[in-house]
Amino acid sequence: MNRAVHAVIDLAALRHNLKRARTANAGAKQYAVIKADGYGHGLVPVARAMTEADGFAVASLEEAVLLREAGITPPILLLEGFFQADELPLIQHHQLAIVVHHVAQVDALEALSASGVETPLPVWLKVDTGMHRLGFSVEETPLIWDRLSACAAVVQSPRLMTHLACADDFQHPATLEQLARFNKLLPETDAECSVANSAGILGWMGSHGDIDRPGIMLYGVSPFIGETGAKRHLLPVMTLRSELIALNACREGDAVGYGATWYCPEDMPVGVVAIGYGDGYPRHAPAGTPVLVNGVEVPLIGRVSMDMICVDLRKLPNAKVGDAVILWGEGLPAETVAVAASTIAYDLFCGVAGRVPRQYVDGEDQHGEG
Ligand SMILES: *Cc1c(COP(=O)(O)O)cnc(C)c1O
Repeated sequence: MNRAVHAVIDLAALRHNLKRARTANAGAKQYAVIKADGYGHGLVPVARAMTEADGFAVASLEEAVLLREAGITPPILLLEGFFQADELPLIQHHQLAIVVHHVAQVDALEALSASGVETPLPVWLKVDTGMHRLGFSVEETPLIWDRLSACAAVVQSPRLMTHLACADDFQHPATLEQLARFNKLLPETDAECSVANSAGILGWMGSHGDIDRPGIMLYGVSPFIGETGAKRHLLPVMTLRSELIALNACREGDAVGYGATWYCPEDMPVGVVAIGYGDGYPRHAPAGTPVLVNGVEVPLIGRVSMDMICVDLRKLPNAKVGDAVILWGEGLPAETVAVAASTIAYDLFCGVAGRVPRQYVDGEDQHGEG
């Protein structure tokens, strides 16, 4: 028999969440961000399910090629563009759109233009409006814009984009500053614009553009600090499931787990769950992190092992081996677990290991994959 751990991925919930992005900025195109294996949900199944997406965005050429080979035909944007000019033939072959954020990329596109091109590439010129990660400064942008506008290898006009650093925090002044810098560029062009990530879509009207880039909200997670997706009418997509594989009747003073970091305050039942950091459950999740056993929230106790965790079953004296456990998802928001483990839901999802089978459900329909 297999280990019970698996991630159930609800594709109907994914589509519901995409609709939420659509209604938040009606009329805009929505490019679903599915980088990092669809935030751990599975690249191709997630793309196939989102038939209503206007396009997709990934970080690597490898992921874009996987999508094309799987028959995904909508536009695909490479969020970091290309790294070497020798990737351009493959990018052209698969008709991928590229972010241009660095002058070496502009040089390469000019060289490509000079060598004669059959099909020009859609280019998104990235402006750094204050995050200081990728992009040209606001001052450099007009010159870069002119250079790209003169490239035969570039679909005209290039698009303009920027990325928000602090939109998850309504109190943070940086977002309005970033938007003001970006908006200064707009009168100079007729370009289509893209600014909003999930937080922009749901919380910052001023960031709504011609094309939005929803990521985490598609997976049912609120992009805002201190709340869960339910508050934004989002549905959880991934439910990480396992079961109890052992029960111990521990005595007062017994230590639980590696390093003997947790002691039973009284005689009590301790459950062992088949999930550990080898599956992507966060190793640094402290005692007290909530776990759902038979639908009841109980605390994690002791250290997370590679393949197992222990839980305090004092609330569930009748629990037995084989009982259902949910680590996050339906009934236990990933946001809540993330806060307990001092991380973010993005990290939890991306961390789910390859050895955890993804089981796709879509309404009544169910099938496993990988
Ligand atoms: C990851 C990413 C997004 C999506 O961000 P979320 O916070 O997940 O909505 C949008 N744009 C860019 C450039 C990204 O890298």
